[in-house]
Amino acid sequence: MKAGVVAVQGDVTEHADAVRRAATAHGESVDVVEVRDAGIVPDCDALLMPGGESTTISRLIHREGIASEIREHVRNEKPILATCAGLIVCSRDAKDDRVDPLGVVDVTVDRNAFGRQKDSFEAPIAVAGLTDAFHAVFIRAPLIDEVGSDVEVLARIDDRPVLVRDGPVVATSFHPELTDDPRIHDLAFFPDMAVKA
Ligand code: GLN
Repeated sequence: MKAGVVAVQGDVTEHADAVRRAATAHGESVDVVEVRDAGIVPDCDALLMPGGESTTISRLIHREGIASEIREHVRNEKPILATCAGLIVCSRDAKDDRVDPLGVVDVTVDRNAFGRQKDSFEAPIAVAGLTDAFHAVFIRAPLIDEVGSDVEVLARIDDRPVLVRDGPVVATSFHPELTDDPRIHDLAFFPDMAVKA
C-alpha cells in the first residue's frame, strides 16, 4: 500500500509513524510518501491529512494543485484519515474565509470551538465498533456542528460528534496519531481489523 501524508504543514512525522505502525500490526507493507507537490496523490492508495493550521494547509494545497487531486482521490473511493486541521480542510464549511474547504466530508465545523473553553485536553471516548475506549488527545480542536445525512457519527463527547465517517473519509477532531493506539488508523485503512480489535 502506498500512503501519502499531506505534508505542506502540520504533524506529518507522527502520521507517517502511525500508519506504519497500523500496517505492521496487520502484516501489511506500506510505503509512506510526503505530499508537498501535485502529481503524487494520484499514485496513493490512502491519504492522511494531519493536524496543524488549517488556514495554512488550505492555502498551500490549493496553491500547489493538490486540492483537486484530493477530491479526485475521494471520487475514486480511496480512503483518507483527516485529523483536526485536516478535518477542517476536508469539511463542507469551516465558516472562515481563510479556509477554502474541500467539501469531501459533509459537515460544518467551528474552528477552535473546544479551544475557547479549554485549549487542550485528553479524554477516553467510546467509538462505535471498538470494544475498549480510545484515549483521545484534543488540541485546539474544531467542533463539528452540522452533520449531513450520509455521515456516520462514530464517537461523541458531550453529545458533540468528534469522529465521523463520510464514505471513504474518516475524520476526527482529536489526534489519534499522538498515541500508540492504531485503532483509528485501522478504522480508516484496515476496517476489518478494527472491528476485530
Ligand atoms: N485549530 C487549528 C486550526 O484551526 C487546528 C488545531 C490542530 O490541528 N491541532 O487549524
